[in-house]
Amino acid sequence: YFPRLQGAEKNMWKEYAQLAEEYKPVNLGLGFPDFSPPKFITDALSEVLKSNNPYLHQYAKPNGHVRLVNVLAKLYSKLLLREIDPDTEILATLGASEALFCAVSGLVDQGDEVIIIEPYFDVYVPLIKMAGGTPRFIALKPKPSTNNLSSSADWSFDVKELESLFNEKTKVIIVNTPNNPLGKVFDRSELTLIADLCKKWDVVCITDEVYEWMVFKPKEHIRMAGLPGMWERTVTVGSAGKTFCMTGWKVGWVYGPTRLLRSLQIVHQSAVFSGSTIEQEAVAVAFERELSLLGQNGSYFKKLEEGLRSKRDFMVKILLDTKMKPVIPDGGIFVIADWSQLESLVDLNSESDHNKDFRFTKWMVKNIGLQGIPPTVFYNENNKKIIENYVRFCFIKEEANLVKAQEALNRLK
Ligand code: PMP
Ligand code: GLN
Repeated sequence: YFPRLQGAEKNMWKEYAQLAEEYKPVNLGLGFPDFSPPKFITDALSEVLKSNNPYLHQYAKPNGHVRLVNVLAKLYSKLLLREIDPDTEILATLGASEALFCAVSGLVDQGDEVIIIEPYFDVYVPLIKMAGGTPRFIALKPKPSTNNLSSSADWSFDVKELESLFNEKTKVIIVNTPNNPLGKVFDRSELTLIADLCKKWDVVCITDEVYEWMVFKPKEHIRMAGLPGMWERTVTVGSAGKTFCMTGWKVGWVYGPTRLLRSLQIVHQSAVFSGSTIEQEAVAVAFERELSLLGQNGSYFKKLEEGLRSKRDFMVKILLDTKMKPVIPDGGIFVIADWSQLESLVDLNSESDHNKDFRFTKWMVKNIGLQGIPPTVFYNENNKKIIENYVRFCFIKEEANLVKAQEALNRLK
């Protein structure tokens, strides 16, 4: 491999998908819903297919299918209280994954430094290295908790440590709120601190907000691009796969000022030219519906939050019942839990992986029929110790499958 690909050869997602195929556990590993997306969106896709408009089967405009970028512009104009230009300030992509690829490739150059907050969605690092950049890490650390009920809000960064990472080589900081895997929703004061450092050091913020509609009340999702002076230096990534529970569609987007988006558009048009027109049309129809219902009772976003909050609560309860210590998430679709109190029940020597969380999660799949994700993949080598006694579970699952997870966890008692 070229040096820029080194370190990314081993992919936990592939390895764990293989394990799931082989052992058929209750799968709370990879982050995907095990139920169908809402009917209004599958209906919208059926309508597209029935339509006799031949253009819906041809290339979309490279920056995005017109109907989709128009409705996204309307939605985010409303949420950010500024006029967003659908032609130059939005780019539709193949999932948030491609949006992140375009953002990093377009904004990071050889020798640039990129600050990442741990735990971080693991692909950020290979993307930065492929662009010739160097990741610099800062870990969120938990406040010592006095009882079993710790919250993702208890995990925070040290301000002095963050300040010390910024220097003249710093080009970008990546923020992910709500965070995968912790479920932390960054509050206004934390985001403002980051924003002030971006302004001071002339740094661009890539903000990954794929779980923006999955923030549990009373917490609120704050958009970095909406903070004073931040529109000009922020690109925001979103995902229809996450938003509408259809991760296989791979429709995403990124919005930001024309000055920055231009570079991302060049990467996108060179790599893929345009995304799937029929999918973008159906996603546009779904967003038009949501835009007209925003904040009202019929809103799907509202139902999504309520449904997910009760799944979160159930998951927390079953983890506490087995003596795992969950970190209660304020958003997203994952919960991490500390399993160290169960260590004596588990044969960690049956696996040979270096990190304990890999050994624990492999043991779980093979012995109690439950899959979770080893969270050390979300930390760099020096900080893996912080998270080695934890496991990540995905809870955006049918109730019946969460009950099966409970039954599996009961085998640990
Ligand atoms: N960012 C984060 C934080 C994610 O968790 C994921 C996928 N789970 C993505 C980006 C990629 O999203 P997509 O499936 O739309 O490519
Ligand atoms: N983001 C998914 C998760 O965290 C994994 C799939 C991927 O995009 N790598 O489970």
